[in-house]
Amino acid sequence: MKAIRVHEFGGPEVLKLEDVPTPKPSAGQVLVRIHAAGVNPYDTYMRAGTYAVKPALPYTPGSDGAGVVEAVGEGVKKVKQGDRVYTARTLTGAYAEYALALEEQVHPLPEKIDFKQGAGLWVPYGTAYHALHHSAKAHASETVLVHGASGGVGIAALQIARAIGLKVLGTAGTPKGLEIAKREGAHQAFDHRKAGYQEEILQATHNRGVDIILEMLANVNLAHDTKLLANNGRVIVIGSRGEVTINARELMGRRASIRAFTLWAITPEEEADIHAGIFAGLENGTLRPIVGKELPLDEAARTHKEILEPGAAGKLVLVC
Ligand code: NAP
Repeated sequence: MKAIRVHEFGGPEVLKLEDVPTPKPSAGQVLVRIHAAGVNPYDTYMRAGTYAVKPALPYTPGSDGAGVVEAVGEGVKKVKQGDRVYTARTLTGAYAEYALALEEQVHPLPEKIDFKQGAGLWVPYGTAYHALHHSAKAHASETVLVHGASGGVGIAALQIARAIGLKVLGTAGTPKGLEIAKREGAHQAFDHRKAGYQEEILQATHNRGVDIILEMLANVNLAHDTKLLANNGRVIVIGSRGEVTINARELMGRRASIRAFTLWAITPEEEADIHAGIFAGLENGTLRPIVGKELPLDEAARTHKEILEPGAAGKLVLVC
């Protein structure tokens, strides 16, 4: 089979398309013919060797794939050959024509969701679901600011927040991103490249502040986020690419808090919740993964450059 292999940590150029043996499922494992793989920012940090999780070399990147079950190992009951599935982590990597996964890492993909959309489920929707439900414990009567609403996690968060009933504000950095944010659930969208946009956000809440901020770039925004919160508000840090200084007094006066997590560290119960929520949302139409760009597997290096560039407009996927 064709697979992307990384033999040394480094820049996008270390992603090489190679021929490797197609794996065979052992007991409790599932072999999936991957039709599309989602590219996530963490894939690039891992490839660079700077991420908390460092895989043994060589490895094939990718936790998010969608495709059809090719074969199952002994004892597998959850899926059978021919089933459409998405993966939430794999054993051998999703940037490949086939991926081996544990039975618990594959999940049913509703008929109406195509494979490219299915490749944008686990990390984006899992993160957004965990941030809103488990971390922020969002209520329908609250206002959420999705700070970075045009990318994978942001769009998922808009859709989930709208489905729960919150008032939803979103930000993006381009006209296209702003249009997507409004289309996918933001009642109002703000340009995070425009000077003074935070004042516009406050005005949109009649100076009360927002209850929840889902923050995609904490190193840039966290200090100001604390000033946008209502009483008992909480910032949920999802993404951060550097250090930041904050004034804790802004939190104290508001009884506010900052929480943070990585999807790697959630509990099995939380993960079960997430997959049940994703499946239900896909079936009832409240969740609709948006594919912004698709590229063939041999262009993996290009996707690793583009995913870190500004101007997000949906999910970046590799067609395998
Ligand atoms: P993505 O698809 O590349 O989207 C990036 C988003 O960040 C876009 O909406 C982008 O908007 C926005 N952004 C850029 N500059 C911003 C600014 N100054 N203020 C606010 N937002 C800004 O990435 P993603 O998959 O959504 O992931 C977002 C971040 O969360 C990444 O850093 C990722 O590593 C992290 N993440 C963390 C976890 C976790 O477990 N904690 C899980 C998933 C993702 P424009 O392009 O329109 O400017």
